[in-house]
Amino acid sequence: MKMKAKKSRKYSHIGNQFVIIVAGIILIALLSNAFFQYYKEQQKNLIDLLHQGESIGELLASISIEPLLVYDSHTINEFARNTTNQKNIIYTMYIDENNNALTNYLNTDNITIQKTIEKINSKNPVSLYNHLKNKNSILNLSFPVTFNNETLAIIKVGLDKESLKFIPLENLITQVISSVFFGLLMGISIYIAFLRKVSEPVKMLNNSANDIAIFKFDEEVKIKGNNELTELANTFNSMRLTLKKAVISREVTLKEMASLNTSLEDRVSERTNKLEELNARITHQAMHDPLTTLPNRILVIERLNQAIKYAHRNNSRLAVFILDLNNFKDINDTLGHPEGDIILKQVAKRIPSALRESDTAGRLGGDEFAFVLPDIDEKNALEVAYKIIDTLKPVFELTSQNVEIGASIGIAIFPEHGEDQSSLIRHADVAMYESKRHGSNVTLYNSNFDSHTPWRLALMADLRKAIDNNELELHYQPQVNLKTNKIYGVEALLRWTHPKHGAVSPDQFIYIAENSGLINTLSEWVINEALLQLKKWQDSGLQLDISINISARNLQDKNFTKKLSSLIEQHQVNQKHIKLEFTESTIMSNPDVVLSLISHSSLSGIRYSIDDFGTGYSSLSYLKTLTVDEVKIDKSFVLDMVENENDASIVRSIIELTHNLGHLVVAEGVETENAMNALKKLGCDSVQGYHISKAITSDLIPDFLNDYNHSDK
Ligand code: C2E
Ligand code: CA
Ligand code: CA
Repeated sequence: MKMKAKKSRKYSHIGNQFVIIVAGIILIALLSNAFFQYYKEQQKNLIDLLHQGESIGELLASISIEPLLVYDSHTINEFARNTTNQKNIIYTMYIDENNNALTNYLNTDNITIQKTIEKINSKNPVSLYNHLKNKNSILNLSFPVTFNNETLAIIKVGLDKESLKFIPLENLITQVISSVFFGLLMGISIYIAFLRKVSEPVKMLNNSANDIAIFKFDEEVKIKGNNELTELANTFNSMRLTLKKAVISREVTLKEMASLNTSLEDRVSERTNKLEELNARITHQAMHDPLTTLPNRILVIERLNQAIKYAHRNNSRLAVFILDLNNFKDINDTLGHPEGDIILKQVAKRIPSALRESDTAGRLGGDEFAFVLPDIDEKNALEVAYKIIDTLKPVFELTSQNVEIGASIGIAIFPEHGEDQSSLIRHADVAMYESKRHGSNVTLYNSNFDSHTPWRLALMADLRKAIDNNELELHYQPQVNLKTNKIYGVEALLRWTHPKHGAVSPDQFIYIAENSGLINTLSEWVINEALLQLKKWQDSGLQLDISINISARNLQDKNFTKKLSSLIEQHQVNQKHIKLEFTESTIMSNPDVVLSLISHSSLSGIRYSIDDFGTGYSSLSYLKTLTVDEVKIDKSFVLDMVENENDASIVRSIIELTHNLGHLVVAEGVETENAMNALKKLGCDSVQGYHISKAITSDLIPDFLNDYNHSDK
């Protein structure tokens, strides 16, 4: 605002400046003309005066010969008087060659004569003449009077130049006044014309420009006439309309953008809600057994963890039961799955009557059930267990026939038989096997049962020797990128060929190794072997990612990171092809170790994969915080996804969720073409499974890879 005020004070009318310049020029022109005229008139009057003097002088000279010859001084005096009386003539006098005055007449009425007489104090015409002849204001003329080549006299005539000046001066003044007047008149007229023709249109244009500056476009600039300014006004108007259109379309665009934005926000929130719903559904699906609707293994473990926390806080005890139906496998095999399913459903229905509301009953899989009973001691636990056995005594009505079915229960009590979830379940399991072995219904865990069972002890002892005896081997299962249909990596899977028992499943011996501390030695061997192989492949120009399985127990080894980095350094392999696999539960039970491993500087470049995804429900929140690269959908969902809509929808949701979190998805357990195609459709990134290949020995990998990557699929 201040700026503007300052500006307008400084601002001077272009019209004023223009008028001053034009009027000034006109005035100067008129004035110079007036002075020129004045000068010319003066010159002309001087010439007229000269002509007057000459005609008088010449006339006098011609008529004075006679009187001079006869010395008639009276007549020449008369001549002198007569001529002197004429206008403009100051004096006329006759002088001879010797400078003697021949006439003495002087016009004493003349002011100049009077003043000169006074000044020289003499009436002598010659003295007077001598004085007057030098005066600028007098035109002095001489006319000799000659006769027969003899000069009789010289007639001196003096004419007044002063009187001539007055008329031109008057003219000059009139001219100056009229010039000024005319100049003023011109100035005013130009000013008015300028105001009308230039200033006002410019002002209108200026106002319109100001309007446009504040986005007011409706006022049209109307300038009459047909000149550059009207042209400018037209241009201005069309510019105003174009701007108006542009502003309107900009507003429309902005509005559209705003509405697009809100609809986008709506869609995002709708999507978020959907995802949350999906998440809840997956969580529910992931935590319940679809057949019996009982909590599944995951939820049982979760409830058990809660109960352990509660028991810790309240210094109370709790019990874990594992129940297994007797001879269920036989019934299933002979009567068929549908009948087996009926039994499982009826068991699930009967059991709750034996339990309190705070207890949890769940199905672990197959014919195995688990129970978590908070706040209970050994004696009451045993009572409940027998009650459960009682509920199962009545016959089960199947479609084909009625059957009786018994059950074996194993019980582990917190804290006596274990302080964490896994040892409690394992010990209840061990106790359940004891029940089975002895044909008793209910057995309370006893530490004598556990790993000290002779065959486990034997297997553990054998495993210790397995490394040295070269009984271990890594097999490699190819992984295929679904976008390119090419093999890009392999998972290293451990194989043990026992000298007596033959191939032992890793599901069996890894468990033993994990529970005996042997797993660290075993993993070290696996990592070393895998890196050795990776180096061989890299050296032979084969670019393959290698996935290595890492156990929870490995992470509890304080030196694990150090060992890992030194092995990597030792083998000089390109780290970006190494992938470590952790199961969800491994991550969940060691979140800090996993985080520090992932962010460890010497292991940068290594990638991480979450194995068996979908079997641990709380992983979603970890997924958000962990910078893992891929998620492996557990094979239990993938195996049946083509037949089982429930599994398919879990797979779909996992893919969607994982992609939303920015991770890649690998599906394992792909056994059929159909499953592979279904996964491709769902946008899954890569697959692994028997459909592509089982885990094979390293020497078969190059050919397999070559065949697969170059075949028409
Ligand atoms: P995992 O890590 O989930 O490995 C995948 C398992 O699924 C492997 O069983 C593999 O042979 C099997 N599999 C692959 N494709 C299919 C398929 O299409 N259908 C079916 N039904 N199964 C398929 P494997 O080799 O018996 O290994 C079992 C588990 O033992 C592994 O599960 C892993 O947890 C553990 N394991 C194996 N090797 C190692 C190891 O070197 N270190 C550690 N810590 N654990 C290992
Ligand atoms: Ca794995
Ligand atoms: Ca797996």
